[in-house]
Amino acid sequence: MKNILLILITIAAFASCESVESSYNTFPEGEKDHTFSNYDMATTKHLDWNAEIDFDKQKIQGTAKWTFINNGTDELILDINKLEIQSVTVSGQEVKFEIKNKNSVEGDALIIPITENDSIATITYNTNGGVAMQWLNAEQTAGKKMPYLFTQCESIYARTLVPCQDAPANRITYNATVKVPQGMMAVMSAKNPQKKNAEGVYTFEMELPIPTYLIALAAGDIEYKAIDGRSGVYTEPSMLNKCAKELEDIPSMIAAAEKLGGPYPWGNYDVLVCPPSFPIGGMENPRLTFATPTIIAGDKSLVALIAHELAHSWSGNLVTNSNWNDLWLNEGFTSYFEKRIMEEITDKAYTEMLWEIAYQDLQADLKNFKGDKWDDTRLKVDLKNREPEDAFSAIPYDKGALFLRTLEEAVGRPVFDKWLTDYFAAHKFIPMNTGMAIKHMEENLDLKAAGIDLNEWIFQPGLPEKTAYKTSERFAKVDEGRKKFVEEGMNAEGLNARAWSTHEWLHFLRNLPKPLDLKLMKQLDMSYMLTGIGNSEIADEWYLLSIASKYEKAYPAMEKFLKSVGRKKFLEPLYKELVKTEEGKKLAKRILEEAAPNYHPLATKKMRTIVN
Ligand SMILES: [Zn+2]
Repeated sequence: MKNILLILITIAAFASCESVESSYNTFPEGEKDHTFSNYDMATTKHLDWNAEIDFDKQKIQGTAKWTFINNGTDELILDINKLEIQSVTVSGQEVKFEIKNKNSVEGDALIIPITENDSIATITYNTNGGVAMQWLNAEQTAGKKMPYLFTQCESIYARTLVPCQDAPANRITYNATVKVPQGMMAVMSAKNPQKKNAEGVYTFEMELPIPTYLIALAAGDIEYKAIDGRSGVYTEPSMLNKCAKELEDIPSMIAAAEKLGGPYPWGNYDVLVCPPSFPIGGMENPRLTFATPTIIAGDKSLVALIAHELAHSWSGNLVTNSNWNDLWLNEGFTSYFEKRIMEEITDKAYTEMLWEIAYQDLQADLKNFKGDKWDDTRLKVDLKNREPEDAFSAIPYDKGALFLRTLEEAVGRPVFDKWLTDYFAAHKFIPMNTGMAIKHMEENLDLKAAGIDLNEWIFQPGLPEKTAYKTSERFAKVDEGRKKFVEEGMNAEGLNARAWSTHEWLHFLRNLPKPLDLKLMKQLDMSYMLTGIGNSEIADEWYLLSIASKYEKAYPAMEKFLKSVGRKKFLEPLYKELVKTEEGKKLAKRILEEAAPNYHPLATKKMRTIVN
């Protein structure tokens, strides 16, 4: 009886493992950009990672033991960038490795000789200032007691953390043992601890295959608070209760997402709220979204970002772009999915505001693509000999989402929803490209009857004439108020804006005349205390207007904002607005030099190109 059970368990485990294995092993042809690795010839499958974090030296001493399948080659090629390789063994024997192809963006190729019988290679190394890691001293954290480390590996930075085949088409499982100083907790995109341990040694397991850009690690004075049985929040102790309260709707978000995506595939869903220098809004690291603290507004008004990262559990993490040219498959699907989750947990009128804000972002960004760059307004982009970072704009996100919304309206929601659920199920753990997505649409939807031209949407620049764009009713009311305030002499109090959501504020502020009369600026500020406001989305928009209107009363608060927040989305427009005048440029340069230690290296690099 016992034995039979054991055999049955073994067969079941083997069968489920096999179905995952066979599907994630097929690579789309001819799209191996931004990697030196030969993942199609010698395919890494599993990583055993040992890492010791040294906060004093800001280095990680690591051992990466890779299990790979040799498909008939005499070398295993891994991507590395800013790693000091100390030794390499293959099947336990030290081998002579080679490092080739130096390139400042993509790094180097680590070439390891292998024979047909080999399946294990172990690399001992340390990290040396790669961009995946941001090291914060204690002063830069909320608690100011311990230093902090977090990683951000999308798009091609996992290779600065661990030698790997750093291409999204290649999926791996991993185990890790991470040693941190006593009193700290380490967390990863894996099964995570919920309590600190005395030794500071933590073990992790990610048993589902993920692309390497989803390897993630953070360490610091981190604690956990559960929201329900499968979700919770990790953050610094002083922020824990506030964050857990703000994010208490995560269980309803998961339930809403499952209606469209199918069962949540990753086990737990937790959120790590990072220190303010986190450079982006959120990163969809599986099981553990990394998020900026700027979404903790106190009134849940910015939690759509969590809906976005949660949606990536399907679009992106389960069905992954095989290549950064296909980024819209990750981000467009997710931006659409995010709004469907928000529609479930709020209502249509609320979600319509999110759609319109996204549309305004898209229209604004389209103006940034001039001349040759106009081609980058296609959903499927060509990044040959370019950085993957070039793909990140409103195009894959908001044009991608608008395309799916247009498709939804054309075929009808029930048909569309069934198609989308099938799309996720059919392509899970498979490297996905635009051609495969088109094929799935053509085979399962009557595009002709729906009047959808895929070529126009996906391969042509700009926006098609017919889209599902609508105006928001709640914004129409804001427009009426703005008109009375700007043109008809109504006092700012008459706007009745205290009950406005963040989105109504954004819509109001964005569409005011620039520069705005200083008298009106003052009135707004007096009535609604906008200078120094804690809501970072509103603050960002207010400071933009303040710079454009030369409302200098807001400048000290703006400077403080620029020095305390590291999210590129906020920094970039402010620096761009500042450099429009000579005086502003001087100010921007000074602020940037003083703020740079708080920014992520990628954010600093980007802001320097703006101010210089
Ligand atoms: Zn995203």
